[in-house]
Amino acid sequence: MKVEKNISLLPYNTFGIDAKADLFIEYYSLDELRQVLKEHKGERILHIGQGSNLLFTRDFNGIILHSGMARARFLDDETVEAQNGLRLDDLIAQLTDMCYCGMEKLSLIPGEVGASAVQNVGAYGVEAKDVILRVNTLDVETLEERVFTNEECRFGYRDSAFKHELKGKYIVTSVVYRVKPGDATKTREEIIETRNGKLPKIGEVGSAGSFFMNPFVPEEQANALLAQYPDMPHFETPQGVKIPAAWLIEQCGWKGKTLGGAQVWPKQALVIVNANHATAEDIIALAAHISQSVKEKFNITIIPEVNYI
Ligand SMILES: Cc1cc2nc3c(=O)[nH]c(=O)nc-3n(C[C@H](O)[C@H](O)[C@H](O)COP(=O)(O)OP(=O)(O)OC[C@H]3O[C@@H](n4cnc5c(N)ncnc54)[C@H](O)[C@@H]3O)c2cc1C
Repeated sequence: MKVEKNISLLPYNTFGIDAKADLFIEYYSLDELRQVLKEHKGERILHIGQGSNLLFTRDFNGIILHSGMARARFLDDETVEAQNGLRLDDLIAQLTDMCYCGMEKLSLIPGEVGASAVQNVGAYGVEAKDVILRVNTLDVETLEERVFTNEECRFGYRDSAFKHELKGKYIVTSVVYRVKPGDATKTREEIIETRNGKLPKIGEVGSAGSFFMNPFVPEEQANALLAQYPDMPHFETPQGVKIPAAWLIEQCGWKGKTLGGAQVWPKQALVIVNANHATAEDIIALAAHISQSVKEKFNITIIPEVNYI
């Protein structure tokens, strides 16, 4: 187990915010995780992955917990179990090399396996929920293992029960994915190329990816908007008409605009970046201005995907 006191969280969040934490603990087995949870019962704990969807708004008075467990193994020909601390893209790279497919459209999404289930990550029409069979967890209170079936995770768009009623109660320890034999090399390469062309590269430019979720509006509202903006991209879904938040933000003229050190990424309006030593306040203020102008222009509320801590 690795334990560090009074640390900077700079290496642990992709936005590049220099917040501090009282304690950082990395565990390497379920027994170590149980030991930490037992010793620090009742204390404020935040389990992080790669920190690629977090915005530390202030110093964290508590324990930042991280998994150093990063192995994957086949349970049978079509199921693979990956530990929470393995980078999702490393898993997909390994599977592609071994000629297994099913997850390749999630290539290059930052973050670890544990958070892939919490966030129900998605890209190019595939979401983690489409390939997750079950999620193994540890109950923070009883320290017992509990398995959640795909259905029990109540996955939704960038959403799961782990963000709501199960939040803070269970730590995802491993995820079981369904895969199948097949060559995904070409798709993976194409996706990597596309993503590298439009998204900021981690380590070069600070960001948390898409800052806002795409909103869903009732059909009547979508029709009224389409009368005014015939080119508006829109997708009919069971939850309502989905309108890309990037389009809404771009229409409000935000692409490339800056506030303090924060900037709307010039290549993709949905992404806010840390362009020049941004503080969390800069990012929060820019996000608030963006959502206010989208509300005023389109009467649509856009909600951050990023977790404010
Ligand atoms: C450049 C860039 C591009 C991105 N592109 C996409 C994209 O295409 N699609 C997409 O869906 N997302 C995208 N994201 C967002 C991000 O990759 C995902 O949200 C990812 O799942 C975050 O993983 P993480 O390990 O960094 O989690 P973190 O950001 O560290 O944590 C996210 C949440 O999960 C919780 N959590 C983490 N691990 C555990 C655990 N083991 N048990 C319980 N809770 C846990 C945390 O407490 C937190 O609430 C992008 C981000 C960046 C920076």
